[in-house]
Amino acid sequence: MNIRQLEKIDTLFVNCHLCTMADDRLSVIPDGALAVTGQQIAWVGKEEELPEALLKNIHLKARIIDCKNRWILPGFVDCHTHLVWAGSRCREFEQRLLGVSYEEIARSGGGILSTVTATRAAGHAQLYEASANRLTALIHNGITTVEIKTGYGLDLDSELKMLEVIQQLDQSFPVHIEPTFLGAHALPPEFKDDPDAYIEQVTQVLIPRVKSQGIATAVDAFCESIAFTPKQTASVFRAAADAGFNIKLHAEQLSDSGGAALAAEFNALSCDHLEYLSGESARKMAQKKVTAVLLPGAFYYLHETKKPPVQLCRDLNISMALATDLNPGSSPVFSMTLIMNMACNLFGMTCEEALLGATINSAKALGLDSKKGSLEPEKEADLVIWDIETPSDLCYLAGLEPVKQVMIKGGFLDTKA
Ligand SMILES: [Zn+2]
Repeated sequence: MNIRQLEKIDTLFVNCHLCTMADDRLSVIPDGALAVTGQQIAWVGKEEELPEALLKNIHLKARIIDCKNRWILPGFVDCHTHLVWAGSRCREFEQRLLGVSYEEIARSGGGILSTVTATRAAGHAQLYEASANRLTALIHNGITTVEIKTGYGLDLDSELKMLEVIQQLDQSFPVHIEPTFLGAHALPPEFKDDPDAYIEQVTQVLIPRVKSQGIATAVDAFCESIAFTPKQTASVFRAAADAGFNIKLHAEQLSDSGGAALAAEFNALSCDHLEYLSGESARKMAQKKVTAVLLPGAFYYLHETKKPPVQLCRDLNISMALATDLNPGSSPVFSMTLIMNMACNLFGMTCEEALLGATINSAKALGLDSKKGSLEPEKEADLVIWDIETPSDLCYLAGLEPVKQVMIKGGFLDTKA
């Protein structure tokens, strides 16, 4: 880069080790330095190679941070959450531990529809407060970009209420938020005998309205035996593509419904869950460069046994991303480090794959990899200083959350450090 073109350096990190995730590898720089100008990274490299011109260009009021030999990694990107909800499913968790089946719980008013009932009943302020507390927890665990889905409203007013809460979170927190419309998450009770009529409502009324308000960037759906068929999902995707939304999909979680191939056909950014992904669908994902988002939290909470085909994804060079899938039923998990630990222990991912999955690959799943997910010049300065011996500690140590400092777009967050 041409240092003479640099604007004044605002923050310079020295005495640190960097794990940049550049070139789809950990790309470790021991004894490194990193310079930030405004909201962007200006320079990354070995401290002893800091350019003279850059040192001369340091702002009078610049912060020079001695990292005391700690590690700097890109902030985590959580590319799949259902963070906005009302109510609790803790009682359901307890019932399942006592052997009550998911079907019995659903029949007695539990399951996803209990969250829909509670979310519909909640006022904007109540929903915002509960969601803000969850978002705060994610940020303090090193997450600097979060995707948030709707899908607990399932009618026009309630889905818009969820999107407005997401918008308010985006305005109130420094973290970058990607809002996703997930109207085709479950069949609302008022349409229980006519799923096609609900899909028509989603494609003809909800998607156009969400588009006109400009409050979502992507459309997602749940293609599964207990949710919507590939044909219904295709209708949703057609409407979403016509309106110019990015496309994402929940598929192949409990069975192979062919959803992943459909996602590839519509050039989806990502296809998520994928325990039952077939070789044929995987090849279509590879062709279209669809990112595979793996969600070990849901696998763990639902006591699933069929693992996603990690080796197949490696063989086909499909990018694997990780996310918390934060939701009240199948993944009430607030920690990306715990998710990485599960990805290694339950799915057989390597520490390097898990770290790439939580950063650059997760940014790919949101179409944000040109701005986020790695420590490279001109990318946004979203980073975390960790008190660890080696990056793999973030996969190996469970429950520690050794965050020392979080920076989002060049600004420091108040943390527990
Ligand atoms: Zn989900």
